[in-house]
Amino acid sequence: MKTNIWENYSGTKRKEVEDFCTKYKEFISSCKTERECVRFAVKEAEKNGFKNVRDLIGSGKKLKPGDKVYAVNMDKNVMLCVIGKEPLEKGLNIVGAHIDSPRLDLKSKPFYESQGFCMIDTHYYGGIKKYQWIAQPLAMHGVVFRKDGTQENIVYGEGDDPVFAISDLLPHLDKKDNQKDVKGEDLNILGGNIADEKVEKNKFKTAILNILKKNNISEEDFFSAEIEVVPAGKAKDCGLDASMIIGYGQDDRACAYTGLRAVLETKNPEYTVVNLLVDKEEIGSVGATGMESKFFENTMAEIMNLCGQYSELALRRALTNSNTLSSDVTAAVDPTYTSAYNVETDAHFAKGISFNKFTGSRGKSGANDANPEFIAKLRKCLDDAGVVYQATEMGKVDQGGGGTIAYIMAKYGMNVIDAGVPVLNMHAPWEIVSKVDVYETYRAYKAFYGMKA
Ligand code: MN
Ligand code: MN
Repeated sequence: MKTNIWENYSGTKRKEVEDFCTKYKEFISSCKTERECVRFAVKEAEKNGFKNVRDLIGSGKKLKPGDKVYAVNMDKNVMLCVIGKEPLEKGLNIVGAHIDSPRLDLKSKPFYESQGFCMIDTHYYGGIKKYQWIAQPLAMHGVVFRKDGTQENIVYGEGDDPVFAISDLLPHLDKKDNQKDVKGEDLNILGGNIADEKVEKNKFKTAILNILKKNNISEEDFFSAEIEVVPAGKAKDCGLDASMIIGYGQDDRACAYTGLRAVLETKNPEYTVVNLLVDKEEIGSVGATGMESKFFENTMAEIMNLCGQYSELALRRALTNSNTLSSDVTAAVDPTYTSAYNVETDAHFAKGISFNKFTGSRGKSGANDANPEFIAKLRKCLDDAGVVYQATEMGKVDQGGGGTIAYIMAKYGMNVIDAGVPVLNMHAPWEIVSKVDVYETYRAYKAFYGMKA
């Protein structure tokens, strides 16, 4: 193994890393859903002079180089854009990350009773090891829409609130071969067990629903709700040297936050820069708010129109001439499970942002295989900026694999490569990253935004 980049951050430079990571920890501690991430991004965008594309359409205002805009899609997908000096059809530099993370979602009809408990039923989202989510404090973040159109944002189980939990069978009574074998239908939350003695039936469920009624939320309102069950509590420093961060949702909010900070700080770029924060990556990038939707393409058409540069052909050229960092986390070599990795070719902590030329599984199936011409250009850009990076794969050949939004961006004929923060125990309720890798990833995205498209 080569150098550990903590050496690059001695003395006063260490403070830069700490300051950045303090803000990052605040972000992942309070933004645990797509909607919370979008709200955060919009607030930061407006603070930094970005204008909503929706407000500009039809206003007669034209965009010029240096102008900053953002667009929101269904409150779960957002993009920020700084207009470059070059015409947009020359291409864009895009950093795209996802803001959905593995979790448990409440079902549309979540409440039922069993053995003197009000239980709350869930359906998991994304690739999880189910046993990791039980017997620990959980919170609920989300939104409920009532029939009258009003909306209630919900955060239960943070701060000094009571938390939620899923119970587990004690080892004494769990003699099956694999104690880690937990069924999806067994991810049931303990809602409470004080009965409402005023009613004949469903005493326990009624008591819990009465509490919700105080917020004017009915049982039926959960049909028009999105409630995500996530680990309760804040991200924390990890290790006696505080070199790491343990927190929920770092896949892929480590890349979302670093990309967002980079775009917010980009002023008067040569080529137009875009930061794209998408939903539904963990379940295949499908749906209206996933990368497969037309939101990005449609919004680029609107932005080009606002710049006075729109034509169908100019839009096609802009997309084809673009570069994208598909910014997603990768698996860091785990010292306890080295047999799953090729330690020579996989990512390590404290070695900087990790580039995967290809992902996919088996014989690269499903991979976007980045062009070496593009990678060479990128190497020069990063080396000139003094960014430390590692060229990696994800696990041993034939061990498994994974996908990102890279192949979807690549459909436009643009150059795309996967680039992001190495993570330990990815998809676990609490994921671990190295502080210097988070900071180096932010520096890489900043440098990339200055690259010739
Ligand atoms: Mn990811
Ligand atoms: Mn993932």
